[in-house]
Amino acid sequence: MAATNYNVNKKGYYGEFGGAFIPEMMYPNIKELETKYLDIINDEGFQREFKSLLKDYVGRPTPLYFATRLSEHYHVKLYLKREDLCHTGAHKINNTIGQILLAQRIGKKRIIAETGAGQHGVATATVCALMNIQCVVYMGDLDVQRQSPNVARMRMLGAEVVPVHSGNKTLKDATNEAMRDWINNPEDTHYIIGSVVGPHPYPDMVTQFQSVISAEMKTQLKEATGHENPTAIIACVGGGSNAAGAFYHYLENPDVQLIAVEAAGKGVNTPETAATLVAGKPGVLHASRSMLMQTDDGQVIEPYSISAGLDYPGIGPLHAHLHQSKRGKYIYATDHEALKAAYQLTKFEGIIPALETAHALAGLDKISFKQDDVVVVNLSGRGDKDLQAYIDNLENYVDNE
Ligand SMILES: *Cc1c(COP(=O)(O)O)cnc(C)c1O
Repeated sequence: MAATNYNVNKKGYYGEFGGAFIPEMMYPNIKELETKYLDIINDEGFQREFKSLLKDYVGRPTPLYFATRLSEHYHVKLYLKREDLCHTGAHKINNTIGQILLAQRIGKKRIIAETGAGQHGVATATVCALMNIQCVVYMGDLDVQRQSPNVARMRMLGAEVVPVHSGNKTLKDATNEAMRDWINNPEDTHYIIGSVVGPHPYPDMVTQFQSVISAEMKTQLKEATGHENPTAIIACVGGGSNAAGAFYHYLENPDVQLIAVEAAGKGVNTPETAATLVAGKPGVLHASRSMLMQTDDGQVIEPYSISAGLDYPGIGPLHAHLHQSKRGKYIYATDHEALKAAYQLTKFEGIIPALETAHALAGLDKISFKQDDVVVVNLSGRGDKDLQAYIDNLENYVDNE
């Protein structure tokens, strides 16, 4: 492979993807972030505080667990990076901790966020409670009704949850409302975006906060196997933050296969899918140029997946680039395949994964490995939030032998 750089360039692009397609009124907010974020992140005091909170509050480093029975089943050496053991149950808090510390350093007194399933909203409300900062979370009215336990959590954590009644009353509409708020409150407010999406510098900033995952993986693999490089890393992709974090320190190392699994919903040949790289075309969504599910005249198509965290119509620009340059292998798994993989992990290893994560596990059925290959699956989150879906499907997937 040619000496390629997979990091963002100065203009905020990964190859032809990324950038900041923002309305002029948002320019001051984005400019401030762009000029300050690298100095802040690289500051020693920031790193000290970030690492200390990741350790004592989030519970890092998360274990790298050798899955004995699943390894036997797949005839491979399989490790699970246990992001499901993070405080609040998923990797998302790595990013919200980083962004709240950054917001404090640029003097912001108020945090806004948007959320679909509520997982990012909960991770944001959590760090705002921790830091005693005002928090407003925009959420489509339909999602407010569908995700009532997370709405209750956010309110208990002290956040104001604002139901959005425009459009389809889902994530895209909540995002529009959050952007409007930010334009109106550029002085005192920071907008915490929850994945590697949105205008530059968000995709890079979020990737850097999540890169702790692959940094730990290197040390832990070295200890467990004698080598810091696995054969392959598998992660699910919605916007792509857990995958970006799990891939980051291996991007420039072509010996390590990077495998990302999108949510195919009911199948990539049906309208009910969220597999952006199969069903999408280049376009601009949330101020970033990437791949996007859209109609011929550019209207965003509402995606579908059984997993609320993966039904995003776009994908982060880093992933569009890794896909286009073939540095990453992008595959997909259906609802059915994900459910099967979730019950299998539970039965073999006693770990109930999030439905999002189950897509990464389903990837194991689609790639063939050799006996001595070392494969790491990034276990992005735990399944407590998905219990109802698991109960509803129990009879179809669990045989009572
Ligand atoms: C939100 C979420 C995802 C999807 O988001 P990415 O930015 O693609 O990582 C995946 N897994 C879990 C457990 C989540 O909560």
